[in-house]
Amino acid sequence: MTAFENALVQLERAAKYAKVRPFIIERLRHPNRIVEASLPVAMDSGEERILTAYRVQHNNARGPYKGGIRFHPKVSKDEVQALGLWMAIKCAVANIPLGGGKGGVIVDSKQLSKAELERLSRGFVRAFKDILGPQLDVPAPDVYTTPEIMDWMADEYVKLTGDQKGRATFTGKPLEKGGSEGRGTATAQGGLYVLDAYAKAIGLDPNATITIQGFGNAGRTFAELASQVGYTIIAVSDSSGGLYNPQGLDVSAVESYKDEHRSLGGYPDAQSITNEDLLGCEADILVPAALEGQITGQNQYNVKARVILELANGPTTPEADIELLKRKIDVIPDVLANSGGVTVSYFEWEQNNKGEHWTAGDVDTKLKTMMADAFQTIHDRAKKDSIDMRTAAFAIALERIAEAT
Ligand code: GLU
Repeated sequence: MTAFENALVQLERAAKYAKVRPFIIERLRHPNRIVEASLPVAMDSGEERILTAYRVQHNNARGPYKGGIRFHPKVSKDEVQALGLWMAIKCAVANIPLGGGKGGVIVDSKQLSKAELERLSRGFVRAFKDILGPQLDVPAPDVYTTPEIMDWMADEYVKLTGDQKGRATFTGKPLEKGGSEGRGTATAQGGLYVLDAYAKAIGLDPNATITIQGFGNAGRTFAELASQVGYTIIAVSDSSGGLYNPQGLDVSAVESYKDEHRSLGGYPDAQSITNEDLLGCEADILVPAALEGQITGQNQYNVKARVILELANGPTTPEADIELLKRKIDVIPDVLANSGGVTVSYFEWEQNNKGEHWTAGDVDTKLKTMMADAFQTIHDRAKKDSIDMRTAAFAIALERIAEAT
C-alpha cells in the first residue's frame, strides 16, 4: 500500500463515526489541486539539472492551504498527496483556521552545496508563485528544509511579487527574519505537551523510558526537552542506525557527537543498534520521528512500548493500527502529536499579518493550552465511541471540515 492509500484507509475508518454527509468524504478523497513542476537548477560545476517538484493543495474549506515542503530523494506525487491530506486533518484537529497542502522536491539535498540549495529553493518559488500567497497557500519547513530555506523562499516571493507583506506566505522563518518565538522547537514541544496530557489521563510514570526513531529537528528536540523534564531516553537513531543505553543516553553528548560527525554511528557511550532493533526496545514510549510507513503489519509484533507518540507523519500503517489496538498499545496519532509545529506556524502567520511580535512566554502558553485541549477532545471522543485516537481525531476533523464546507 502506498502512503496515500494508507491515508484513504484512515479516512474511510473515520467516516463510519463522523457525522458528515458522504460527499465530504468523497471530496477529501481527492486533493483540490496537484501541481507538478520541473525546476532547472544550476550546479556549482556549471552543469544544469532538472528536478521534479510538487505542490498539492488538498483542501481549503477552513482557510488557506497550509503545509511544509519536503526535500528528499523518496518524495513522490503519492507521498505529497498523503501528506497534504494529513495536513488538512491536522489543522482541523488543532482547530486552527487553515486548510491542508504539502510540497516536495525529489532531491538528495545532502549532496547539494549551500549555493545549490539556495538556487533550488528560489527555483521552487519561481515555479509555484502563482498558487502561493499569505491568503492562498502558506508553506513551511518539513523533512530536510530549514528556517534558512524559508527565508530564501520568502525573499524570492517578495522579489517576484513586489509585495512586502508576502513574507507571511512562508512560516518557520528565522526569528530575526519574521519568524515566531518557539517555532523551531514547536513540533517537539507540542508533542511533549500532548504526552503530558496523555500521561495524566492514564497515570503513566513521569520518569518513563523513551526510544526515538529519527534525529532531525523533531526527534532531536524532543529528546532534549523530554530528558529535561525527567523522561529517560534509552535509544535514538538516524538514517545511519541507532544507539542504545538502558541506563539512559546523555542527550547533549549525543547531540554534540551528531553535530561533529553528521551521523550517530560510532558514538562511544552506547551499544549500536539498527532502526529495526530500536522499534523493539523495552521502553514505555516509542516515538517515531522520521518518515512514514515504519511500523507495519509485519514488524508491529516487536513493539513493546505501552504507547506510540507519532512525531513523524504517517509512521504507522493502517494494518499495524489494527494489531496495535488489539494488543492495547495506544497510538497518539501524528495529526495530534506533531500538530504543535503547524500551530506555531499559525501563530507566526498571525503575527506577520498583524505586524505583531509575541513573546516566547505568550507562544508557549497558547501552544500548551491548545495541545491540551486538542488531546482532551480526542481522548474523550475515543472513549465515547470506543475507537482508537486516530479514528477519533479524523472524525472530529471531518466534522469541522464539513461544517466549514
Ligand atoms: N511540516 C510540518 C508538518 O508536517 C509543519 C507544517 C507547517 O508548519 O505548515 O506538520
